[in-house]
Amino acid sequence: MAAHHDKKLAEERKHQNMKNDTKASQGQWGRAWEVDWFSLASILFLLMFAPLIVYYFIMSCAQYQCSLTAPLLDLLTGNQHLSDIWNRTPTLTSRAAGIYFLWVTFQVILYMSIPDFCHKFLPGYVGGVQEGAITPAGVVNKYEINGLQAWIITHVLWFANAFCFHFFSPTIIFDNWIPLLWCANILGNAVSMSAMTRGYIFPTNAKDCKFTGNFFYDYMMGIEFNPRIGKWFDFKLFFNGRPGIVAWTLINLSFAAKQQELYGEVTNSMILVNVLQGIYVLDFFWNEAWYLKTIDICHDHFGWYLGWGDCVWLPYLYTLQGLYLVYHPVQLCTTHAAGILILGLLGYYIFRVTNHQKDLFRRTNGNCRIWGKKPEYIECSYTSVDGTKYYSKLLTSGFWGWARHFNYTGDLMGSLAYCLACGFEHILPYFYIIYMTILLTHRCLRDEHRCCSKYGKDWERYTAAVPYRLLPGVF
Ligand code: NDP
Repeated sequence: MAAHHDKKLAEERKHQNMKNDTKASQGQWGRAWEVDWFSLASILFLLMFAPLIVYYFIMSCAQYQCSLTAPLLDLLTGNQHLSDIWNRTPTLTSRAAGIYFLWVTFQVILYMSIPDFCHKFLPGYVGGVQEGAITPAGVVNKYEINGLQAWIITHVLWFANAFCFHFFSPTIIFDNWIPLLWCANILGNAVSMSAMTRGYIFPTNAKDCKFTGNFFYDYMMGIEFNPRIGKWFDFKLFFNGRPGIVAWTLINLSFAAKQQELYGEVTNSMILVNVLQGIYVLDFFWNEAWYLKTIDICHDHFGWYLGWGDCVWLPYLYTLQGLYLVYHPVQLCTTHAAGILILGLLGYYIFRVTNHQKDLFRRTNGNCRIWGKKPEYIECSYTSVDGTKYYSKLLTSGFWGWARHFNYTGDLMGSLAYCLACGFEHILPYFYIIYMTILLTHRCLRDEHRCCSKYGKDWERYTAAVPYRLLPGVF
């Protein structure tokens, strides 16, 4: 009798816990509702200083041969005033505005008007109309995946111009680098402001909007989840992929062309940076459909963080190694170059295989093989805002059994390789690995906080099964 009573009590408690978990996860797992003081302080700091950081890095290269300390020393010792540095900085020019306008318009045309044809002849490539993940409001968006073809068309035209038509110099990007920075800032801020306004006045999907009540937080982290113009122009997919990531490889090519123009040769370090970052960019477009399942698209709302970040931060700071090598051409010895190549390729391999394992596992609902074996996983459930319960699975084998974010570890190895290609004379090219370590560690914590609210006790079982985040045995 007592045993029966205990069992009934346990059942009731379990039911109550489940209700609580469900309540806690409803509407909570998309994004933090309450803004703590640390988040607010970080956001205010970034809104004020991120544009200055970008300017400082680019200006240091243009005026101080990429030394980060020299401008500060000049200012502190009174050798130079802020106004001297500012007066030497190139202003916005109509030429740069024209180039930038044509560039963005061209990418919009490629994105909107040419349905994907690559998936028709490239075996294994997933393109065309694809579905995103279920949003917290239970919506499933459709996307036209045609980034690979946009990248190919853009690069074919670039090389055709460089080697045949000569309409413009391949150094055009380097030659207008600072005037283009002002254009990118104008677009980044305009897009973020329009996203904020739309969120208040005519959101694409009102149920997927989140208002924290804090203006700065909402501006930074976004209100709308998937802002769109019409049926197909998706802000997140467009601004993250193009113009920013398509431009990444073109920017590097322009830097290589500048090295050739200045020194009569392209150094092996510049080739390494072009090749390794080229693989990363190409991988992004080859796997654009997979990108629909990443945090940027599945969980982040569209605010200044993505809008301005994609237009300014990404093209200007992710390409610092190439820019640095224009000012400091580094010719690496064969062993050093080979070591960097191996590190970069190994990092890329881990990054790709880890991402692929999760993607395959989720796409096939666990009916696949990971490292030749049936995958191991933890069953979990979560609830959307309308109270619908969904079931999911968390993979615990393959690289996902080594650490909970081993894809980030691979990414960090690749990032370190780009930086090492620049030698050890200056800290500036190492900004990327420092930034990526902060970004991905923070992303780990942010994602785990969200997953914990989403999956509740199931997430605890998962973290017990896979105890480390990035490095097995360490963190
Ligand atoms: P992930 O691709 O790791 O996605 C995390 C999500 O995957 C979680 O929110 C969860 O979503 C799901 N998930 C977590 N653990 C498991 C598991 N064990 N099994 C199945 N699903 C799981 O993260 P990101 O989107 O951040 O990163 C994608 C890639 O992009 C990474 O390789 C990263 O390195 C790279 N990246 C690069 C950046 C750059 O600037 N260069 C910036 C950011 C990322 P769910 O709610 O569906 O369960």
